[in-house]
Amino acid sequence: MIRFEQVSKVYADGTTAVDDLSFEVSEGELVTLVGPSGCGKTTTMMMVNRLIEPTSGRILVDGSDIAAVDPVELRRRIGYVIQQVGLFPHRTVLDNTATVPSLVGWKRAKARARAAELLDLVGLDPKTYGSRYPAQLSGGQRQRVGVARALAADPPVLLMDEPFGAVDPVVRERLQNEFLNLQSAVCKTVLLVTHDIEEAVRMGDRIAVYGQGRIEQFDTPGAVLGTPATPYVARFVGADRGLKRLSVTRIERDDLEEPPVARVDEPTASAAARLRREGARWAVVLGTGGELHGWVSADTLSNAGGTGTVGDLARRMEAWVPVGAPLKQAFSEMLQHDAGWVAVIDHDRFLGVLTPAKLHEALRRSVDADAQGVARDAVDFDSVSDA
Ligand code: ADP
Ligand code: MG
Repeated sequence: MIRFEQVSKVYADGTTAVDDLSFEVSEGELVTLVGPSGCGKTTTMMMVNRLIEPTSGRILVDGSDIAAVDPVELRRRIGYVIQQVGLFPHRTVLDNTATVPSLVGWKRAKARARAAELLDLVGLDPKTYGSRYPAQLSGGQRQRVGVARALAADPPVLLMDEPFGAVDPVVRERLQNEFLNLQSAVCKTVLLVTHDIEEAVRMGDRIAVYGQGRIEQFDTPGAVLGTPATPYVARFVGADRGLKRLSVTRIERDDLEEPPVARVDEPTASAAARLRREGARWAVVLGTGGELHGWVSADTLSNAGGTGTVGDLARRMEAWVPVGAPLKQAFSEMLQHDAGWVAVIDHDRFLGVLTPAKLHEALRRSVDADAQGVARDAVDFDSVSDA
């Protein structure tokens, strides 16, 4: 969808901002450009909508060389969220959001209706906020308007330059999640610039790590964190990159252990006997349809004196996560509930449990899988717990 071919940009004063850059962004992909200040991220981005012209090389958008496309026409197809949001202070939120549709000649009523729809989409009630001015909004709300405005003409491509830079960390994380949800619905091809490695790995399908005017590594967040291509990248992603991987590695079914289970309607005596035979100290309790009900310890069952059903004695499961959640969430649940394992569910169906050993194994496997370019379950792995 966006393709850079040996693109360089040397400014008039001789500064080489971008040096022989080649990369490609697929349709519907979100790529983050990350690197320290001054490494050429904004320059790269502004060449895509021709606010800056390359010195050499060419850029293709949707197959055509943009040097031959009228810049105004080009920008209709490319939404742009700039670093300082850049709303017009004397226009209402609704009019700000309708800027591009109005520019490209939509009827006023249609442009405003579209703007209202977009404000709704980014979580701002148009009735409440549409008539306000930018100064009457919080920083986070202004950022949302910036995103709504960029999406208003429904462009296939979105350029975002530090779009969540001007807000505090809590609001920032909320905006990031909102945008990811939005993106999973609208599937734009997105180039997102940030200097923050955490944001880059959280947001990007792939990330381009910039050194001075060059890309040092262009890969998935997991691969960049797991196998940094150069010492520079390793330094940039930080010594805690192992920890950061926890947030980009997702729980898969193959990671799970199958613990002993008991059913809610099972007599306590038979469940107690079975657990004793298996040498198990506890069991996950499932409902009659396989849904997660809770857990019960073998001692509790034995002490019940052979009366009642497992359901009477089951305790609530505090620590659980949905399959597909990041490993970090599972680890956090374990710590929060002081639990040695977490239940993993698919909607309300119980799939298995994740233990610290399995969590470690999943992390190890994913490093090897990224390095070998294969699926995680294809990696051979000997763990201490197998011994
Ligand atoms: P980033 O967005 O990664 O912080 P930029 O693309 O803005 O980096 O800048 C890359 C380099 O180009 C920097 O050294 C910056 O000072 C320089 N630069 C940016 N714009 C201009 C310009 N208009 N004239 C000269 N140098 C520029
Ligand atoms: Mg910049």
